Amino acid sequence: MQLKHFLNKLEKMYPVELQEKWDNCGFLVGRLENEVKKVLTTLDVTHEVIEYSIANNVNLIVSHHPIILDGMKSITSKTMHGDKVLKLIENKIAVISMHTNIDKHPEGLNDFLIQKLSGTKGKFLNSDRSSDVKLIINEKKLETKLENLLIKMKKSDEIYDYGIENQKLTVTLRSKDLKKSINMIQYLKEDEIQFEAFPYALGKEIGGLGNYFTIEKPLPLREYIEYVKKALDISILSVVAEDLDKIIKKVAIVSGSGGSLIKESYKKEIDLYISGDINYHVAQSAKDYGLAIVDIGHFESEVIFCELMAHKISTFFEGKVIQFGGKNPFLRM
Ligand SMILES: [Zn+2]
Repeated sequence: MQLKHFLNKLEKMYPVELQEKWDNCGFLVGRLENEVKKVLTTLDVTHEVIEYSIANNVNLIVSHHPIILDGMKSITSKTMHGDKVLKLIENKIAVISMHTNIDKHPEGLNDFLIQKLSGTKGKFLNSDRSSDVKLIINEKKLETKLENLLIKMKKSDEIYDYGIENQKLTVTLRSKDLKKSINMIQYLKEDEIQFEAFPYALGKEIGGLGNYFTIEKPLPLREYIEYVKKALDISILSVVAEDLDKIIKKVAIVSGSGGSLIKESYKKEIDLYISGDINYHVAQSAKDYGLAIVDIGHFESEVIFCELMAHKISTFFEGKVIQFGGKNPFLRM
């Protein structure tokens, strides 16, 4: 499979547009025309991952943390980071990074963590909505040719819906797809189509940072912590709590460095906040809000990326996919 087709499939699953503004998800190193032979999924593109990839003929790395994040000004062996990127290029190894776009996706990392903890589907703590438009075209009725096109576009998720309203054709869609959709409709018509487009309501919920769910049988925090350790295979974690016997009903999960949604959790009446990399000040403010926190560690909350991504890739790629779990840079002692 050519890298451009691989990338297409992956970005259709986890659209890059979902990423946070400061992030750098997507295709970061490589040549689109190259054939993908062997894939490796990893949290980070470390020297160890690169050496392993070279030794095992891996020519595409799909990482969670982007290998290039803030404006790299040179790619030379003079810096540790430049040396890594150089080595990837010299060995024809491509890199795609799926970071906050997979964190925020309805079937992303947080959802996968919730599946492991409860087998249920969570809701977003803080959701993003697409900016949608309502396109109104001056067509009194739908010709078969046009209707067939709209059915096809709806099926492939290029538009949400269509219909005739007040003797005009109405199509609802994402604003980013507007130009393309108008061109497709215009292509069918002999005369120039007349249309107007308006921002449409609030848009559809497309993703969000952090998920939460309700436990079927509420448990004291003390017991729930033991359950989390087992379910996620974690031996040591940090806890912020006034009362270990507090009954836990609503749990929020934010993978990675997840200290930013404490206020949001308070608003949603969350009892327990599970995340990684919680700093001292966040822990203090959680106490003020009466929120219990379990910090399972940045690495531990995200290492499942390798498994999730390998599984998703195997739905469209027939070659070998290696899960490179790697090691936490922190030793737990
Ligand atoms: Zn992370």
